[in-house]
Amino acid sequence: MTAPAIPSGRFAGRLAAARGAAAAAGLDALLVGVGADLQYLAGYSAHPLERITLLVVPTRPGSAMTLVAPRLEATPARACPAATGGTVAVTTWEETQDPMELIARLVSEAVGCPPSDVGAVAVSDGLRAAFLLGLQRVLPSARFSLASGVLRDLRMRKDDDEVTLLRRAAQAADRVVLAVASGPLVGRTEADVAREIRDRLVDEGHDLASFWIVASGPNSASPHHDPGERVICAGEPIVIDIGGTIGGYGSDITRTVWVSGATDAGAGIAPHPDFLALYDVLHTAQAAAAAAVRPGVACERIDAVARDVIAAAGYGERFIHRTGHGIGLEGHEDPYVVAGNTEVLAPGMAFSIEPGIYLEGRFGARIEDIVICGDHGPVVLNQAPRDLMVVRG
Ligand code: ZN
Ligand code: ZN
Ligand code: ZN
Repeated sequence: MTAPAIPSGRFAGRLAAARGAAAAAGLDALLVGVGADLQYLAGYSAHPLERITLLVVPTRPGSAMTLVAPRLEATPARACPAATGGTVAVTTWEETQDPMELIARLVSEAVGCPPSDVGAVAVSDGLRAAFLLGLQRVLPSARFSLASGVLRDLRMRKDDDEVTLLRRAAQAADRVVLAVASGPLVGRTEADVAREIRDRLVDEGHDLASFWIVASGPNSASPHHDPGERVICAGEPIVIDIGGTIGGYGSDITRTVWVSGATDAGAGIAPHPDFLALYDVLHTAQAAAAAAVRPGVACERIDAVARDVIAAAGYGERFIHRTGHGIGLEGHEDPYVVAGNTEVLAPGMAFSIEPGIYLEGRFGARIEDIVICGDHGPVVLNQAPRDLMVVRG
């Protein structure tokens, strides 16, 4: 099965929208380095090298958009959909050349003034400091700002093809969680289970496995536990938080399971009543927050819905992170579901809903789904069961 992709015609529209937003913000140009912004605008997922690759999007109407790339990257640069579609011209620089001078010339020609008079440019948020300092050298009077100021609104609202990729990734991750929860787990190390998860993420259709948290017993109280040599025992929970990418778009699911160690000969160890009580509160909080998703609701409100349920049950101090994060070409991106974020949800926004409760030294739990803000309410992409799964063996 070939990986689905964003239709190549889409990039011209994204570039036009980005140029329009940058012009409205009073910028002379957007300068986009290797990373998710470049993938979004040009369909080019380049290697992050010490040699600069930069998409120059001048705002003056009719000016050429240029992808500047090192000569040795010419082939993949010219093959990206924005270039093959004719929206973007590709210009390469030689090993002995100063690419900053080339970029300054392109920007100044497009703006119609000498490089020393270029007034305002925005750079992609992840641009290397060394590249930014180089740009500041060749554009000495320019005011620099972050491209997220103009790109975040475009990238936050996913189109149907992006949602399709996110859904495919979510469904693949669901299958991995269900396979792992079918056991056996007792007697294995966290690292061994993590290896199985990495393999399964790819086997189920991801291009890449990105992360694989397996946090057993007391480790389940540490949200970003790194799976290690701890041996999984009967009678404890495991927090499993995993994800990968399909066509550049990420999955991210968490399920907490209880390992009973049941065998044909014995019933195993049932979930501890304290754990069941904690899990029940968490399950209610996660469902309430997901159900509250609809256009017009502020991100901070979704966070409050989850937090209020958890606090009312007395676990407020044990929910030690935000409720969620946006997801797309980056595993964590806007919008963040956190107190203080007044950003209002709009159709197409994609984010996690992942409250957790952590009793340090004892155990913890988290439930995470990826949710799209639909026209009238939530569209939950993950479908693996949220009732506590009790694992035999
Ligand atoms: Zn996390
Ligand atoms: Zn996660
Ligand atoms: Zn997450």
